[in-house]
Amino acid sequence: MNERYSRQILFREIGRDGQERLLNSRVLIVGCGALGASHAEMLSRAGVGKLRIVDRDFVEFTNLQRQTLFKEEDAENRIPKAAAAKKRIAEINSEVEVEEIVADVNNSNVESLIDGCDLVIDGTDNFQVRYLVNDACVKQKRTWIYGAAVSSYGTTMTVVPGETSCLRCIFEDMPDAGSSPTCDTAGVIMPIIASISAVQVTEAIKILVGDTASLHRSLMQFDLWANDWHRIKLGEPNPDCICCQKHNFEFLDAEAQEFSAVLCGRNAVQIAPPRPVQLNLAEFAARLNSTMPVKQNEYLVRFEIDGREVTVFKDARAIIKGIDDVSAARSIYARFIGI
Ligand SMILES: [Zn+2]
Repeated sequence: MNERYSRQILFREIGRDGQERLLNSRVLIVGCGALGASHAEMLSRAGVGKLRIVDRDFVEFTNLQRQTLFKEEDAENRIPKAAAAKKRIAEINSEVEVEEIVADVNNSNVESLIDGCDLVIDGTDNFQVRYLVNDACVKQKRTWIYGAAVSSYGTTMTVVPGETSCLRCIFEDMPDAGSSPTCDTAGVIMPIIASISAVQVTEAIKILVGDTASLHRSLMQFDLWANDWHRIKLGEPNPDCICCQKHNFEFLDAEAQEFSAVLCGRNAVQIAPPRPVQLNLAEFAARLNSTMPVKQNEYLVRFEIDGREVTVFKDARAIIKGIDDVSAARSIYARFIGI
């Protein structure tokens, strides 16, 4: 084993055996924004052998204040976050194998994304995906580590199916859309990202090295600005929990996945095709190019229409900026992508 990990091996709780286990592990990082980028960096430096990183978005300048993996050129070139993370991790630790997946996590793909991973770490920014991940992880008996941060406060909790409460034991119903502050409405400072991701990644390492006795088994909440630190011990799973006790996976088994979503606080709407499709970006760009200027890279095509910026990905998703009206966004989608 190379000297890269020598200081971590000296840490008794990890040791040589623990390091070996880390090198042979695979972790799914759901969402590669501020929390996810931080997970990806810490896990790759720690020598977790395989990372599967899934994210639907591309890097923007507003991300750079807190999303430490990304650089100005990623924002300039609109590189998808999963791809930018893969490139940067190759420079940090070339021994780590990264699978970058530029996609929306939904009920048609979440189970295959989890497949083969030792654990799942939450770097997403929305509850829809967290409830879906909770369903899938409880169903597949896979540990997942919830984390959320906004403003100067954050929350984290580790869900070990069959042992601890799950997300729905604690928060039975998903908060209504628009009812919670988001990074785009309330802002966020980087130290809370560092704090929440530090607890999440430490929990991940404990699990991967087999020291589950050291898990914190609580709902942890911090507010760094208000100097508040709370730790609520998790009891037994709620006997009435619809997910982990009754095995009714409402989010996983939902009939049709959401076709469109307003991207909160960003003045943008995402439109996704109801079934997975692969778009030939080069042909698509060539089609558009006859009528308007088009910018493209290997992951996406971008053009402007009526002052709105439309970004189309290989999986035929589009993010339409400068709009928060879903039906108007759908009509632009139908006109130009037409699936
Ligand atoms: Zn539960």
